[in-house]
Amino acid sequence: MTTPKITSNISRRAFLKGSITAAGSVVATTGIARAATSLTHEKQEPLATLIDIRKCIGCEECVYACQAANAEKYPEPEKPFPKMVPPRVPVEDWSEKREVTDRLTPYNWLFIQTASVTVNGEQIDLTIPRRCMHCANPPCVKLCPWGALKQEENGLSRIDSDLCLGGSKCKKVCPWDVPQRQTGVGLYLDLLPALAGNGVMYKCDRCYNRLEKGEVPACIEVCPENVQTIGPRSEILKTAHALAREINGYIYGEHENGGTHTIYVSPVPFDQLNQAIETGKGKPHLNKVKNMMADGTQLAKAMLIAPLAGIAALVGKFYLSTKEDK
Ligand code: SF4
Ligand code: SF4
Ligand code: SF4
Repeated sequence: MTTPKITSNISRRAFLKGSITAAGSVVATTGIARAATSLTHEKQEPLATLIDIRKCIGCEECVYACQAANAEKYPEPEKPFPKMVPPRVPVEDWSEKREVTDRLTPYNWLFIQTASVTVNGEQIDLTIPRRCMHCANPPCVKLCPWGALKQEENGLSRIDSDLCLGGSKCKKVCPWDVPQRQTGVGLYLDLLPALAGNGVMYKCDRCYNRLEKGEVPACIEVCPENVQTIGPRSEILKTAHALAREINGYIYGEHENGGTHTIYVSPVPFDQLNQAIETGKGKPHLNKVKNMMADGTQLAKAMLIAPLAGIAALVGKFYLSTKEDK
């Protein structure tokens, strides 16, 4: 694909608006609804989201909608924190910094990344919603030793905060370092303080409880620019390719880590975007990512872990039920 041409006498916004109008028919004709009505079929193709980067204006409405929709799932840690075991495990406390919105935290599962890029001598500013990619074959799910992560039939992955022991394996194996830990909360406090990770991990759960009711995720519903579209992955991919062809654009998420359920379409190449965004703790990159579950070692680990994780999850559930009975 070629780099999009931007003539010097039009603004970035005008350029993007123009290309959006030109490509508007692509999304409109596919039959994928922004407010999809059939998200809860018993047997369904995994759902994916198309994120059209050109449309995002960086207003953060989605960020605050995510926080409001998921506030009940956020951690309420017990303080003072118990002594960390082993002592080298760092305290990760975001409970006094809940207002942070410029990165992923246990209290902020979606943030807006900014990129200032020069294309054909013209500077354009892009804003990019970032959260869990919801990988098709998620290493976080396959390699959690406690079976605390699960992938639903609709493709979303989520962390069961009742079962997570905070060991952060999911974060170590995530190509984008997405899950974030809060200390002083969860099962480890009662169960395994000497062995576990001193907290619970948190990330976007794709608003699974809204999807179960046939509602779209909060971030999609609230967006004033219709940046995101949700639907069956095959249809989302068709739309993404049609859109990319129409705008001479680029796709991210179709093949990364073996394929994800989050498909970005951008008017500029992703390696260029990746150089322009700030990356680091809680700020995922946009690099190419190889399929880490295709690695024989990881596959073998997943096969070994699966039965143990199942047993650990059962033990955890049993422990929780006995605790509730007391
Ligand atoms: S609400 Fe929509 S336009 Fe606003 S920052 Fe989020 S994705 Fe972008
Ligand atoms: S992006 Fe990371 S946390 Fe999200 S599903 Fe993939 S591996 Fe798991
Ligand atoms: S899908 Fe739900 S949990 Fe995930 S970023 Fe959007 S609003 Fe937040």
